[in-house]
Amino acid sequence: MGIYALEQRRESGLITFLRRSRSAPTVAAGVLILISWLGARGQFLPSLWTNGGMILAALLAGHKIARQALFALRYRVLGIEALVTTAALGAILIGEYWEAAVVTFLFAFGSYLEGRTMDKSRQALRELLELAPRRATVIRDGVELQVLAEEVQKGETVLVRPGEKIPVDGHIIKGEASVNQAPITGESMPVEKGLGDGVYSGTIIQTGYLELVADKVGDDTTFSRIIHLVEEAQEKTAPVQRFVEGFARYYTPGIMVLAVLVYIITRDVLLALTLLVIACPGALVIATPISIVAGIGNAARRGVLVKGGEHLEMLGAIDVVVLDKTGTLTEGEPQVVGVEGFGVGRDMVLTQAAALERYSEHPLAKAIIAQANEEGLEYPPVDDFTVLTGHGVKGTLEGKPVLLGNEKLLEREGLSIPEHIRLHLDEEAAQGRTVILLAQGRQIIGAISLADTIRQDARELVRSLKKAGVKETVMLTGDNPGTARAVAEAVGIDQFRAGVLPEDKARVIAELQAQGRRVAMVGDGINDAPAMAQADVGIAMGAIGTDVAIETADVALMDDRLSRLVYIIELSRAALKNIRQNLFFAVAVVFLLLAGVLGGRVILGSGMLIHELSVLLVILNATRLLKYQPRS
Ligand code: ADP
Ligand code: MG
Repeated sequence: MGIYALEQRRESGLITFLRRSRSAPTVAAGVLILISWLGARGQFLPSLWTNGGMILAALLAGHKIARQALFALRYRVLGIEALVTTAALGAILIGEYWEAAVVTFLFAFGSYLEGRTMDKSRQALRELLELAPRRATVIRDGVELQVLAEEVQKGETVLVRPGEKIPVDGHIIKGEASVNQAPITGESMPVEKGLGDGVYSGTIIQTGYLELVADKVGDDTTFSRIIHLVEEAQEKTAPVQRFVEGFARYYTPGIMVLAVLVYIITRDVLLALTLLVIACPGALVIATPISIVAGIGNAARRGVLVKGGEHLEMLGAIDVVVLDKTGTLTEGEPQVVGVEGFGVGRDMVLTQAAALERYSEHPLAKAIIAQANEEGLEYPPVDDFTVLTGHGVKGTLEGKPVLLGNEKLLEREGLSIPEHIRLHLDEEAAQGRTVILLAQGRQIIGAISLADTIRQDARELVRSLKKAGVKETVMLTGDNPGTARAVAEAVGIDQFRAGVLPEDKARVIAELQAQGRRVAMVGDGINDAPAMAQADVGIAMGAIGTDVAIETADVALMDDRLSRLVYIIELSRAALKNIRQNLFFAVAVVFLLLAGVLGGRVILGSGMLIHELSVLLVILNATRLLKYQPRS
């Protein structure tokens, strides 16, 4: 369903109405119980009336429970509802009308509260929905026109003024503005946008004026997609949950058998029925989903998209975090910092390199072209141009074969590196620079050093990951070992693998997994996709604007602040802890009650009360996750 439809459903108030009318029988049952109880105590109502009132109350509150029990039975599931129904019917049969009424009422009331809190946990999503753009100003046939956001057509020109929400994903054709992207990234520091820049639906122009062309509209925008994905994610069950559900399949029939045994041994029907009620695994069943929904909601509000409970759960148990160097630990925008000629002039080296890189999309290529342009160099056209992934490029310049790339490329082509050039390479690499070599024919004629700034929060990231309980950090890069070592040391990473081809990154992850470790892979989500898919959890950074990343990652951080990575790992750990607390508590309550019943201290009504209270406590504990704050 589209977010606009979702919004209408919310606005119609239909849900509120249904919920109220659904709870009406429960409310009536409560009133009946109260009157009958007062009547019986004050002896102003005949017992025929008070008993009748209790039975009616039990029917009012219990008919839905019984229906659900039957529904589950059709799917061969003996659910909690079946336990409650049996207990209530049994109580009526043996004349314990009061117990029957109280048990059904408490259970129905508990389910109602449960539903309400579950809705509240989904609140985070609803808050996001509030941020959806509603109106748009478009230019149609040269006239400015106000339309609904979802009515904007692809390719139309849209105007956005200060304070307004951008209604579509698009690119700027006129104007400049500072844009608050918090609805998507969770970061409220405004971003400056100008001609050609991409902007996203749901973000807000603080100052400035923009004209843009709509590239994605309605349900295709990044914003809508995030809403859908969060919605889907909250429905998906986590492995713990599947375990609990599987367990309930055997548990419930087991309890029924136990109750029968207790009756056979003690001949005490009430005791057997009480056993049925208090053994209800209510808190156990909701323990996991409620924490997961709360956790995913918290993340969504901070620009972190978690694509399902299983990922949140897995992330909470990760031991190794693998990070891509370029673009994750570094800015990903290398710059030329040195050009060296071996027997030729440096300008000649830069000219030939730029000529070779003309058609390459690699960040290193862009840096070289930028440098050549800045120096005003004219570079000749290239023939037979080939990209050698993870190695470099080759082609023909003015009739001569030319190579540009790393040592591996030269090795591959059978060229050996003379001692003085090797020395130069090692020196540069030790400073964390990437060096690529230029060869003409079989002669190495130059070297270009490029430096990519290490992100200032990279060191802090590695430290915080450790603090968050990650045992080991590993850096992957296609760069040479010397450069990799320098960067790894600068940021304090434990281990690095250099010279890794993009297709081999997945294999490195598999090796780590083969050692029995649970691995998260952090990358840009585009060329790291295979590695991210292989990892137990694939995390994409800076996912805003890159659809591939949003679709393929298990966890997508909309912006590229490294602190968000720490936050999501810590949140996952908190969620996992929360689930464990809930499960422990739920099991403990059942055991305590069981002991209480067998010891004759807990009766039907009070058993149900304690049971429902335990459900509420589990819910309260889980909602703490909604309020969870990042430490940094
Ligand atoms: P990463 O993204 O991990 O740095 P890549 O596989 O993109 O790894 O590149 C690995 C190495 O291959 C680079 O460090 C560089 O030495 C060489 N290389 C790749 N593409 C080019 C290119 N277009 N020009 C020069 N060198 C390149
Ligand atoms: Mg790369």
